[in-house]
Amino acid sequence: MSVSYFLNDITNETPIGLGLISGGLDSLIACLVLKLQGIKVVALNFKSPFCICDKAYKNVECGLNLYSDKLDIKTYHLQKEDDYLDVIQNPKFGYGKNLNPCIDCRIYILKKAKLFAEKINADFIFTGEVLDQRPKSQNLKALRIIEEESNLKGKLLRPLSALMLKPTILEREGLIDRSRLLGIKGRSRKKQLELARAHGLLNEYNACGGCLLTEKEFANRMKDYLKFSKNPTMEGVTLLKYGRHFRFNGAKIIIGRNELENDFLLQLKGSDGLIMEASDVKGPITLIQGNVEEAVIKFAARLTLRYSDAIKSRGEVIYGRDSSILNEYLLVEKATQESLKPYLL
Ligand code: SF4
Repeated sequence: MSVSYFLNDITNETPIGLGLISGGLDSLIACLVLKLQGIKVVALNFKSPFCICDKAYKNVECGLNLYSDKLDIKTYHLQKEDDYLDVIQNPKFGYGKNLNPCIDCRIYILKKAKLFAEKINADFIFTGEVLDQRPKSQNLKALRIIEEESNLKGKLLRPLSALMLKPTILEREGLIDRSRLLGIKGRSRKKQLELARAHGLLNEYNACGGCLLTEKEFANRMKDYLKFSKNPTMEGVTLLKYGRHFRFNGAKIIIGRNELENDFLLQLKGSDGLIMEASDVKGPITLIQGNVEEAVIKFAARLTLRYSDAIKSRGEVIYGRDSSILNEYLLVEKATQESLKPYLL
């Protein structure tokens, strides 16, 4: 059997379901519900720089461990690639409250999941979506659009809300026992929590998931990035997660807030751009990208000094293209809060 089998050649073999998992509670319980009726389940998680769980670049205990440890489910990971940036820039079905194109995003990952399911011989795809849990992207109409646009009409199983939706072909053909699926609707997670507790998943459950595109501050940085980048890439997006960001005369100035961020900026600098730091005192790494003209260098220098440990209001910074050879000098006044505010992203 394979994904294409949905419409023909149905046998009584136990089907293999590929579950899209975010690391949140709903997808975990969707997997559990299917496991409880003896379905073979494998999981697929999409990574991207928009994932919140690695935001703090700590080795966070990820909720995804539970899939293998407790549910014995093999988890695959795929990256959202540069083509995802087209989805963000031109979503056919619009945005949520910030820059999150949720309906188009679901379609994007389901299309990729469908190809992946074919590759690993999974028979169907399921998600942890819950009817009406999110007003815009999980209402009945949105669920239908998602299914149709990803070419999974009548084939996409949502075990948590199945009883509120039309039966899929899997249920109609008796490969999935519809009576053992759930009829959850709305925002309450009472039922999901009950099940997690009953199956010993709750203590070890460590919510991850979450998306930076839903956050106002990040969405602003992202809009700025898309506006000023000729060829935006997911690697470029990664830089948006670290440091304080300023846009000045068309150039981007990024200032590390701690040692880890300083290291990231050095690593992610790429072939162009300038590196700057305060002379003789402890302070941030500053990365300058784009239009590196004199006024930009001076403003970046004032910022660098402001966020350094320098006590005096006037001081020196060093800068250069190669972080190991910072051989240019500049003496400037520290930037004031008032003067930096209009440029802060
Ligand atoms: S919140 Fe982010 S990851 Fe989730 S569906 Fe929306 S855009 Fe996609």
